Amino acid sequence: MDFSDLGLSPDVLRAVADAGYSTPTPIQAQAIPFVLMSRDLLACAQTGTGKTASFTLPMIDILAAGRAKARMPRSLILEPTRELAAQVAENFDIYGRYHRLSKALLIGGESMGDQVKVLDRGVDVLIATPGRLLDVFDRGYLLMNDVRILVIDEADRMLDMGFIPDVERIVSLVSRIRQTMLFSATMPPEIRRLADAFLMNPKEISVAPPATPAETVTQGLVIVDHADRGRIGVGQKEKRAALRRLVDSEAVTNALVFCNRKRDVGIVHRSLLHHGYDAGMLHGDMAQPVRTETLERFKAGEIKLLVCSDVAARGLDIAGMSHVFNFDVPTHAEDYVHRIGRTGRAGRTGCAFTIATPEDGKYVAAIENLIGKAIPRTALAGVEGAELETASDKRRRRRSARRPEPVEKKGRERAAERKSRERAAEKKSREGAADRKNREGAAEAKKGAGGRKADAKRGGVVNKPDRGDGGKARRPRRGKQPEPETPVVGMGDHVPAFMLRRTKTRNQA
Ligand code: AMP
Repeated sequence: MDFSDLGLSPDVLRAVADAGYSTPTPIQAQAIPFVLMSRDLLACAQTGTGKTASFTLPMIDILAAGRAKARMPRSLILEPTRELAAQVAENFDIYGRYHRLSKALLIGGESMGDQVKVLDRGVDVLIATPGRLLDVFDRGYLLMNDVRILVIDEADRMLDMGFIPDVERIVSLVSRIRQTMLFSATMPPEIRRLADAFLMNPKEISVAPPATPAETVTQGLVIVDHADRGRIGVGQKEKRAALRRLVDSEAVTNALVFCNRKRDVGIVHRSLLHHGYDAGMLHGDMAQPVRTETLERFKAGEIKLLVCSDVAARGLDIAGMSHVFNFDVPTHAEDYVHRIGRTGRAGRTGCAFTIATPEDGKYVAAIENLIGKAIPRTALAGVEGAELETASDKRRRRRSARRPEPVEKKGRERAAERKSRERAAEKKSREGAADRKNREGAAEAKKGAGGRKADAKRGGVVNKPDRGDGGKARRPRRGKQPEPETPVVGMGDHVPAFMLRRTKTRNQA
């Protein structure tokens, strides 16, 4: 199939030829004719499949007819991250070079004043992240009821980042008569629910099974050993050494180094610089101008290694990336697929190495389960390797961590405890015998002095079971009716509870 078979205008075809594309990718071949028919679209496709062109190319042709009014964009593309939004805007420049469409980019971290000025002139295409878009809308700089084409890109990422409530609100603000396209790399039930709510009779396209890593990526897993087994976030030093070994042993032209935490991005970046490597860093807490500049320098080949977090690098399209290194095993299996998808793009080959510690067994298993195959284990010269911990290894380790003392000591301790218990019991029984003796003596004395009355008073107590209070059972308060003495005959060595209940005598009644 050729691009000219898809129904695109000669101007768009010229721009596509200028971009150097000869044949449409599967998603482009399937989606473009339907988008040109103004049909809704639900596409399950990961980045790297050419999905951006599958909606931008037909959108350019649809928007070519008509004019935008001030503050009322005609189309809206929602992206989860600033980098992706900027990338889509670049695509519009490339593919729309023979059209006179206006576009605006609304992303956080950059001057809102400048963005609003562009909106004031009227835009055909608005590319935005949900947060900044709603911010501008709530300040009254934007009206969305003229948006007739809505694209929700990377919907599963929006879900991960907690943007779905914002997306739902945005959908309620755009025109009800519209064409909607939803793209997602995976199709979890929440995304299905959104698709059912937002799309009308959509054309469904799935170009690659969700979360299938590109066939062109060679994968490897390096498991490093460390002294602090069982603790979370340890083995960092060993992992940094393994990373250096990997970079040295591989023919790296440019590589992304992914860390799970922003804090570690800084640490790994500093460590690489310290060891003389050419490295930069990128994460969500950095100021937007610095992020943009770093990315530009990396794309231009001025930085060889870019240490980054997931949020900063998802969906980034960097030509000819040779390697991806996972400094940490991602805790969400899908992130693994997205990370390694930064290399091996557009049919090129790439390598993705993941550095793990034995404690990462659970996460590696989840990834291997998702991609449907084992990641080949890679031994590195000079790096002490290890095996991944299984769930039963973990349970065993935890159990022994709860009882860390050596066996001999435990035995001694147990003997000492037993002795002290025996001494306490002996003391108690001696005291009990003395107490009994005293009481018996006192009772005898009282009996001698017409003690029947006293016996009757104590009657309720006599038959009460042992409360374990060493004979300090409470006596009936003064003035309280004495209980009648109940004879207990043939009841073995205990008193049944029912016999201790007060029985009403005629006198009491
Ligand atoms: P995307 O999946 O939209 O991020 O695109 C991935 C990469 O594929 C981008 O660098 C595009 O420039 C490139 N690309 C898109 N369509 C084609 C095509 N038909 N032929 C060759 N490369 C393409």
